[in-house]
Amino acid sequence: MDIRSMESEELIQLMREMNEPSYRAKQIFAWLHERMATDYDQMSDIPGTLRDKLRAAYPLTVLTVDRMQESAKDGTRKYLFRLPDGNYVETVFMRYKHGNSVCISSQVGCRMGCRFCASTLEGLTRDLEPSEMVEQIYAVSRDTGERVSNIVVMGIGEPLDNYDNLIKFYRLITSDKGLDISGRNITVSTCGIVPGIYRLADEHLQLTLALSLHAPTDELRRTIMPIANEYTIEELIKACKYYADTTGRRISLEYSLIGGVNDSMKDADGLSRIAHRIGAHINLIPVNNVKEREFKRGNRESIAAFKNKLEKNANNVTIRREIGQDIDASCGQLRHKRITSV
Ligand code: SAH
Repeated sequence: MDIRSMESEELIQLMREMNEPSYRAKQIFAWLHERMATDYDQMSDIPGTLRDKLRAAYPLTVLTVDRMQESAKDGTRKYLFRLPDGNYVETVFMRYKHGNSVCISSQVGCRMGCRFCASTLEGLTRDLEPSEMVEQIYAVSRDTGERVSNIVVMGIGEPLDNYDNLIKFYRLITSDKGLDISGRNITVSTCGIVPGIYRLADEHLQLTLALSLHAPTDELRRTIMPIANEYTIEELIKACKYYADTTGRRISLEYSLIGGVNDSMKDADGLSRIAHRIGAHINLIPVNNVKEREFKRGNRESIAAFKNKLEKNANNVTIRREIGQDIDASCGQLRHKRITSV
């Protein structure tokens, strides 16, 4: 197993197997997850012989910056990281008033096939390891020299399609021996895999669940998201209520607004009803135009009208702050360009 994917107990077990004292596990964990080491040579309080043994058996997972684009407007940074096996993922660093936020990927590619999304154009290559998920945050911290306080799992991939690694990632990043990020500051976004939502609810974690709804009826949702053929909106509402009741955490509904497709006043009313039934906050995302995709963003007036309608219906609604518009904002586009260009 990848040493940066190991939880404390697993590291203790490893030290036992190597006939090392267990306090070494604590030291190594801190080097990997608090000081975000990129090389065993940095581990100055670990004896050289042990470092050599570890280096030979457990190469460190380190992500390297392949490309970085910084928005001249708001300082948002979009990274294309190279994984140890040569695959690529995207990660975004955003500055907000309440702190720095990082949007991470959970898979290399995606098999969900949402029709407006660039991440799914080449399908799924593989899941990300827990180490590769935490390393996105560590690599951004190393590069910016700034502290990260919020994480959104909204980059490339479907997190609930990589369930076990997502949970391990959560435990590593919230560990008080590592970056100690509060679970409340972590949001996981799903296209709506119903059994995964129940399973996650029963873990009793503090994270915020965001559901990508994108349509108020099954009929319309099926034309946008293939996953809607597997689970109905009624099943999703039930699962979300269960999640909210079990964890005490409010759900967030993501709604990508597509011009002339899901942005009528009738759609707004339908969305309102669903949000009220779940007690959810609504987050509108004016769709980012993706060259290979036929869906386009509506005009400014139609977006404002949709939001106003929701507010009249007494919903709690925000429009995703449009950051990084000048730097290939929607996730998946940078990787898509990188792997399709010769
Ligand atoms: N697979 C997860 C998380 C990744 S996508 C999910 O489906 O939620 C994160 C969010 O961005 C989702 O709500 C997704 O539907 C949305 N999204 C993807 N491509 C987009 C685009 N081109 N424009 C607007 N939103 C997009």
